[in-house]
Amino acid sequence: MAGGPGSYVLGAEERKEVLDVLDSGYLFRYGSEDNPRFMHKVATFEKEFAEMMGTKYCVATSSGTGSILCCLAALGIGAGDEVIVPGYTFIASISSIVLSGATPILAEIDESLTIDPNDIEKRITSRTKAIMPVHMLGNPCDMDKIMAIAKKYKLAVIEDCCQAVGAMYKGKRVGSMGDIAAYSLNVFKTITSGDGGAVATNDYDLYEHAFGFHDQGHKPSRMGVEVGNRSIIGMNMRMNELTGAISLAQLRKLPMILDTLRAKKSKLKAGLANIKGLSFRKLGDEDGECATLLTLLLPDKATADKFGEKIGSKTIAHSGWHVYNNMEQVLALKYEYDGKVITYEKGMLPQTDDILNRAMNISVGVVDKGLGSAFGININSTDEEIAAVAANLKSILAEVL
Ligand SMILES: *Cc1c(COP(=O)(O)O)cnc(C)c1O
Repeated sequence: MAGGPGSYVLGAEERKEVLDVLDSGYLFRYGSEDNPRFMHKVATFEKEFAEMMGTKYCVATSSGTGSILCCLAALGIGAGDEVIVPGYTFIASISSIVLSGATPILAEIDESLTIDPNDIEKRITSRTKAIMPVHMLGNPCDMDKIMAIAKKYKLAVIEDCCQAVGAMYKGKRVGSMGDIAAYSLNVFKTITSGDGGAVATNDYDLYEHAFGFHDQGHKPSRMGVEVGNRSIIGMNMRMNELTGAISLAQLRKLPMILDTLRAKKSKLKAGLANIKGLSFRKLGDEDGECATLLTLLLPDKATADKFGEKIGSKTIAHSGWHVYNNMEQVLALKYEYDGKVITYEKGMLPQTDDILNRAMNISVGVVDKGLGSAFGININSTDEEIAAVAANLKSILAEVL
């Protein structure tokens, strides 16, 4: 089975929450407040999510992609603005910038597989409005450096937490450090309701704007259609009560999921200690990352390709989805303004290409061919299975290194 750890631990809790909703008869997030049968699962999810993430406000949405669009809209980012985003991310980080009307400016990653703070500054122009750090594969970005750059140039920070819900950076949850953050509840993420998402922020105005954008311009906690009270043009990206019910049960499992993955990952990693020529990606916070994947770094592309072939997987560069080189829709973009032409070409991020050509994802909790993590363990793997996978990897590494 492929999917994220949340999908592997679906059980009685999710069933109970969903049956609550079915029995109530209220499927819409807005219900009759004076009817005790209305379960307000979405509103409860929003409250508990904000609490767990250490933010004041949360808007539940229908997807991570929609959540990023809400963040951009809340910040008033649109045509003529530039947003700096890493070239290694899920396409939604980039496509939501494009759909907001703004220009995505691709930046390099470093060996953390997240945006390289040293490259951000080089990409800033008079049009830059925001930086979008993406906490890739559960690993927090170097937020101290990113926030310092944002402050220096007065830029907004949108944290893309779609792959890292619950990750900690120096004692803070990802998503609580920038201006506003987006999360996904898709089946390949850490917790899931099939599809769904969330926006979180500490700023009431951004919250109100994000809320309105996700719900036809309405204010939070609306009671019906409030004609005369809608200040912006919005979309419909609402979460429904069934999705809210599963999201709530999954959110309550998040601490258990993260503890379990961290324990299993350290066992797997311990089985691969002290192998000459093998290193691991840099972690923004060793104890705080989600531990959904283990990323190996091999000395060069040829060795990495050989290793991938032997374990029936591929280097991240060739695993599909998440690399700008493999996003034909992005490569086809072109912007012209200020007397310059902005294009997107294969090979435009050589540092990113070099790292991804040598990098191999081993699953710990997220089993996803699209991420290059078809091989490895999952959240239910036993100690024996983990030891066997480690031993297998070790012997293959001995052949190729
Ligand atoms: C999955 C993902 C998204 C989009 O989330 P959806 O819920 O699939 O719309 C955005 N950014 C990143 C980094 C992701 O991994």
